[in-house]
Amino acid sequence: MPPRPISSDKPARQRSNPHLWTLTAILAGAVAVLGCMKATASAEGVALQQGVTTPKLIVFITIDQLRGDMLARYRGDLRYGYARLMRGAWFTNGFQDHAITETAPGHASTMSGRFPRSTGITSNSVGVIDPNYTLLDGLPNEVGASPERFQGTTLFDWLKAKDSRTRALSVSKKDRAAILPIGRAKENIYWFSGNGSFTTSTYYRDTLPTWVRQFNARRIAQGYAGKEWRLSREAATYTEPDSVPVEKGGRDFMFPHPFPADTIGASQYIASTPAMDSITALFALEGLRQLDLGRGPQTDILAVSFSATDYVGHAYGPDSREAHENEMRLDETIGWFLDSLYKLRDSSTIAIALTGDHGVSPIPELARARGQATGDQGLRVSLRPQVLEVRAALRAAGADTMAFIYDGEMVSLDRAALKKANVDADSLLNAFVAAAKAVPGVARVDRMAALRKADPASDRIARRWTHQIPPTSPVDLVMTLTRYSYWSTIPATHGSPYDQDASVPIIFYGPWAKPGTYTTFARTVDMAPTLAQIVGVRPLEKLDGVVLMHALK
Ligand SMILES: [Zn+2]
Repeated sequence: MPPRPISSDKPARQRSNPHLWTLTAILAGAVAVLGCMKATASAEGVALQQGVTTPKLIVFITIDQLRGDMLARYRGDLRYGYARLMRGAWFTNGFQDHAITETAPGHASTMSGRFPRSTGITSNSVGVIDPNYTLLDGLPNEVGASPERFQGTTLFDWLKAKDSRTRALSVSKKDRAAILPIGRAKENIYWFSGNGSFTTSTYYRDTLPTWVRQFNARRIAQGYAGKEWRLSREAATYTEPDSVPVEKGGRDFMFPHPFPADTIGASQYIASTPAMDSITALFALEGLRQLDLGRGPQTDILAVSFSATDYVGHAYGPDSREAHENEMRLDETIGWFLDSLYKLRDSSTIAIALTGDHGVSPIPELARARGQATGDQGLRVSLRPQVLEVRAALRAAGADTMAFIYDGEMVSLDRAALKKANVDADSLLNAFVAAAKAVPGVARVDRMAALRKADPASDRIARRWTHQIPPTSPVDLVMTLTRYSYWSTIPATHGSPYDQDASVPIIFYGPWAKPGTYTTFARTVDMAPTLAQIVGVRPLEKLDGVVLMHALK
């Protein structure tokens, strides 16, 4: 069945059915159990009355770029899935407590209980990209992926060690967001190609299973070609302005947002619309049914990472009308996802966790205009001239210019090459530190050795860097910009050690969780040990996280 248009030429029809977007995905999919659009209290009540046993299913939901304050910010408009989960054990002071707050390190930490210094996934660039394992379905320019750089174990491995029948399904738009929560296990791991199909790599299997091919054959994403992403409510009810030309580089920054007319273009454009998450949720539910997960006696894992918040946030900024609209749609998506899940499986057997992989900073130009960023905060910074200066000095000294290794906000040296040319490493570093510190927008340039001696309680920037970089790493210097400043030129981003990029909500939901709003400090590395406690399994290695006992019954 082809998808129904997500928008009509008649705005009145759109207004009369605010759920049209979500309904489109539901009707296009074949999850027959759907139909209830409102979060009902019934399944919740059943779960809480039935007492506590070992869960048969852990559902781990990650929202890409969900900053810690966003649920409270949109609370008045959240009525479905988010609203339901916020009635669980909701930590409002949660953090990805590391420095490079990107998708790959975040997803590697949540279900491993370990910081990036220990998972080996210290940035997106050392995430999952791996040309040795090609995609089973995808566009010619899409690179393969694997978890080969991930080190150690995850909650899945601990469950599997307890009961070898344990299985996992992990799904996302992004390869790294699907792969890393499960670690290195060769499980059911699927992500979304720019050709509109869910795919995996040869690390996991040789051919796509029939159910995945049948799902792809529905061509749901392709069906959005030529349609529009429209607001679900009257424009006047949104507090955010829509016409903000700094969004999306000055193009396509106002509703409605037209999809490209061709199917490949639409399959790529869809990532920055709420429809991406609807399709991801549909695929996850279909996989749960097809793989027969969550029936016990073992505990299975269903990991779902919703990516649209990140794509929308990067394009339009976290304070945009698009971001607000997207969260309301995602609230509906999670709502029918949970309703469907509870019709497929007994809610009293399911433990749910939700978090974000990182937060986000406001668009610097907007942060400065509204006085949120002051002085030399909220700048776009490049150290290219300073790096070129160092390289020129090396060339003049007859040294290999690549002996100065500049990797974004990190610097390391090829000390052997410097020694060969009689260049003093410390003098070189000191000269660069002085030059970098003089650049407006650079807050700190720290020697890693010094950060390891800093007080982690009072210097959270130092703490987050030491959680990021392994003690064995050759990184000599790390650079931290002023708050709200970006290395990037894209409209909005994340990645800094500041709270706005590190903060995420942390939620546990189900019969094991003690409902309430918790303002105590919590980290995403605490989630895996807490879930392990619920299931009664022991981690197979030393973790950075601890069990959040006070949130458990
Ligand atoms: Zn991002």
